Amino acid sequence: MQTCSRCNAQSADSAVICPNCGADLRELSATAMSLRRMRQSSRVLTIRLVVPDNACPACQAVEGTYPKETVPTLPVKGCSCPHGCTCFYEPMLSEIYP
Ligand SMILES: [Zn+2]
Ligand SMILES: [Zn+2]
Repeated sequence: MQTCSRCNAQSADSAVICPNCGADLRELSATAMSLRRMRQSSRVLTIRLVVPDNACPACQAVEGTYPKETVPTLPVKGCSCPHGCTCFYEPMLSEIYP
C-alpha cells in the first residue's frame, strides 16, 4: 500500500501515479518523501528498512540497515504481502551512533 503525500489517497503498490491527484508516486509517495528528507539530513548516517514480523519473504530479504544512497526503494519489488508492502524507513541518527 502506498500513501500519496499530496492528497493522502492510498493506492496499490504497483501504482506509479496517484489515482486521485495524479502525483508521481515514485517521487511523492509518503515513503519516497521520507526517504528524500532522510537523505538530505546530515544528521542521518544510515537508514534502517523496518519490515513487519509477518511480512512476505521478499520483504524479509531486504530488512537491514543501509547507507543512505543504496537503501532499496519502497514498496519492495516482488512483495506479496496480503495488504501490500508495509515496510518503512527509520533514520539512524549520528547522535545515537557517533
Ligand atoms: Zn494524490
Ligand atoms: Zn511484502
